[in-house]
Amino acid sequence: MGPFQNEHKIFKKTVSEFVDKEVRPYIAQWEEAGLTPRSFFKRCGEMGFLGLNYAEEFGGAGADHAFSYIFNLEMAKCGSCGVALGLSVQNDMATPALAKHGNKYLKDTYLRAANKGEMIASIAVSEPNHGSDVAAIETKAVKEGDHYIVNGRKMFITNGTQSDFLTLLARTTPGTGYQGLSLFIVPTNLPGVSAGKALKKICYPSSDTTEIILNNVKISAENMIGREGAGFLYQMEQFQYERLAAVAMSLGGMKRCYELTKKYIFERSAFNKPLYKMQTIAHKMAQMAAEVNCLEAYSFKCVQMANAGIDFTKDISMLKLLAAQTQQRMMEECVQIHGGYGLMTEYEVARYFRDAKLTGIGGGTNEIMKEIIVKMEGME
Ligand SMILES: Cc1cc2nc3c(=O)[nH]c(=O)nc-3n(C[C@H](O)[C@H](O)[C@H](O)COP(=O)(O)OP(=O)(O)OC[C@H]3O[C@@H](n4cnc5c(N)ncnc54)[C@H](O)[C@@H]3O)c2cc1C
Repeated sequence: MGPFQNEHKIFKKTVSEFVDKEVRPYIAQWEEAGLTPRSFFKRCGEMGFLGLNYAEEFGGAGADHAFSYIFNLEMAKCGSCGVALGLSVQNDMATPALAKHGNKYLKDTYLRAANKGEMIASIAVSEPNHGSDVAAIETKAVKEGDHYIVNGRKMFITNGTQSDFLTLLARTTPGTGYQGLSLFIVPTNLPGVSAGKALKKICYPSSDTTEIILNNVKISAENMIGREGAGFLYQMEQFQYERLAAVAMSLGGMKRCYELTKKYIFERSAFNKPLYKMQTIAHKMAQMAAEVNCLEAYSFKCVQMANAGIDFTKDISMLKLLAAQTQQRMMEECVQIHGGYGLMTEYEVARYFRDAKLTGIGGGTNEIMKEIIVKMEGME
């Protein structure tokens, strides 16, 4: 079905079994700790789950985008969305531009280590004063000889308390809007890089999120990804993979909640009949099944476009918008069908409900997805 061959189905089974044995049993512990541990990134590297789309020469798997789609979707079924997010930052958000435009030194040093789970990566675009308006960021990188001096603050950085390097967007030419931005790899052990305490969130407790401060950080010019001034374009390109991953993770959560809720309505009774015999509830389930299937069919199209190297900005923006909206509605319905149990954190549906909001905010909000669609439909 869709873009999947037999090898994809085998991979799906492998990831699904891994999630059952090595992820779901640890969720409560990791949520309590406020992050997914470094050892788990390493374990995923050993399993060959990291850098799926990247060249084998740099420790990747050289696999197509259906593999990363499957990985994100199956990992998101683990019961705590933060686990899949941390890995996806590593695989789909902080590294696509590095893999495509980075020099050999950067790929040998950082991409290879990320692909093996020996380093943890963060993507550092958002700032305290600028999130949606990426072109307005204020972090500066000023050239001095063969180095850049970086000053600024980055906000809401996933994996931020434990990342080894940041893929950082900074302004290299003042006053030039999006054309004056460049992407850098910034090791976090350089003098002047400091991460704040993990921010306290109402969702995603298994994922650490921090502010990162850069104070006169001296970075070698070799650490620039690709061309000076092309950072915004590289980031926009990279966002396509981030959004595809966000959709896969949201679908993973929706499918898991659907299955758990379906099981529940056969087990739970009220007024002397099982819940599934109540038409209002059965209809809600039918609606969910229809929506998930449609979203999945559209996601297969995006996976195929990614594999073909076609720009899929418009399609993925449409899909992320609808996935985010559907996910939120659906998680609410699943909790409602579970009654009071649906609000107990030991029930997975409660955790998915808690985590559902981020898809419509992270990696471009619902409103920004609409703005992209408006532009690409020629209605600007
Ligand atoms: C848990 C979490 C993890 C994150 N991880 C990362 C990370 O790892 N790296 C990173 O760089 N960032 C990360 N982010 C930041 C995220 O990408 C931003 O929060 C997001 O892009 C929105 O930016 P903002 O919060 O500054 O909101 P703003 O840009 O201030 O927007 C506020 C509101 O105004 C609306 N708005 C803005 N512009 C328009 C417009 N033109 N038309 C209509 N409405 C508009 C927005 O949709 C939103 O509703 C994370 C955020 C969270 C919550």
